[in-house]
Amino acid sequence: MTRKEKITAKIKELMYGPKKIRNICICAHIDHGKTTLSDNLMAAAGFISKDLAGEQRIMDSKSDEKDREIIIDAANASMVQKYNGEDYLINLIDTPGHVDFGGDVTRAMRAVDGAVVVVCAVDGIKPQTETVLRQALKENVKPVLFINKVDRLINELRFSDEELKERFLKIFMDVNNLIKKLSPDNQDWQLDVNDGSVAFGSAYQNWAINVPTMQETGIKFSDIVEYCIQGKSNELAKRLPLYDVLINMVIEHLPSPDVAQAYRVPKIWNGDIESPVGQALINTSAKGPLGAMITNVAESDHAGFVSTCRVYGGTLQKGGEIYLVGAKAKSRIQRVGVFVGPNTIDTEKVPAGNIAFITGIKNPTAGETLCLASDKIDEFEPIDHISEPVVTVA
Ligand code: GDP
Repeated sequence: MTRKEKITAKIKELMYGPKKIRNICICAHIDHGKTTLSDNLMAAAGFISKDLAGEQRIMDSKSDEKDREIIIDAANASMVQKYNGEDYLINLIDTPGHVDFGGDVTRAMRAVDGAVVVVCAVDGIKPQTETVLRQALKENVKPVLFINKVDRLINELRFSDEELKERFLKIFMDVNNLIKKLSPDNQDWQLDVNDGSVAFGSAYQNWAINVPTMQETGIKFSDIVEYCIQGKSNELAKRLPLYDVLINMVIEHLPSPDVAQAYRVPKIWNGDIESPVGQALINTSAKGPLGAMITNVAESDHAGFVSTCRVYGGTLQKGGEIYLVGAKAKSRIQRVGVFVGPNTIDTEKVPAGNIAFITGIKNPTAGETLCLASDKIDEFEPIDHISEPVVTVA
């Protein structure tokens, strides 16, 4: 088996266990480091060389489109990551970094259950930080925080370890205030520096740390300052690989689809929760009636429309007939599968809890509800477009 075949086989296996799945996005104000961080995750999963992460821009790049099986506008990726000796499937949905693409960000939020919010340590909170947090929380998407570009505070601005702590505390408190203000009523999603839901580091230099890692390794802020000043960020990246800290944060603090759907479905779907469809959606049941939503549509020369789709209940099946609730039309799925690294892999089925690609749907639109023609389920809530922050934190 080649490496790609092994990863593919693993993904096909993990797709059926929602508890080991995390559907996430990385979101940030433009230039705060979202792409660099995404590349790091891809490097950890083996899709690009670790040495190149930070320079190569897979999620950004369109240059390799001709090598892809399908052209994807918003590059999505499924990755297998080990945590405590067990494999997890991380489905990473790319979000555009610019506020003009606010609609796309909101759509991506519908597909995921958790968000890594990246804030530049030099800039702090910016208007789009608030916008993306607002979008996430409105969709009941749980956030964690990554404070990026810490190397710049040390090397360019010559911050001492005390000043670093102060800056982190300020950003952390600003983000927590926003979360408090914007959180859905029923959720207590305040971040806690001590539990590892906040991390600091440099996506560019591939290192990161949080309080639990500090306790495990004995590495202190003063040590980090020393490493950076002495130009030994490579050593730091070996001792504190960014992807380890990030993956731990995602797996420990962001919910699996079965946990998230229990509180998200009543917010995003208007039907009767007690009905068989409602129960399938709320329990992430692959065996129940199909309930899915298109969250993005791209067009490809050779595959026609390629829809990104979150499957909440039931199972998408290759060749299966589906019903588009909004368009009131039937369609047949030609190909179905998942995004792997920058490519796609075809599967026979994609069960509840996953993010799939499908082709064959005539005139798909983002926000469309999919079900079986025999069920004709209620529609998912429309996806609101939020593009401007209402209140800005100074
Ligand atoms: P995005 O717009 O949020 O996707 O940001 P990018 O990942 O494209 O990063 C914007 C710029 O910041 C690029 O020039 C990156 O090389 C740089 N950058 C990203 N992360 C870091 C970091 O941790 N440290 C430093 N010094 N530069 C970074």
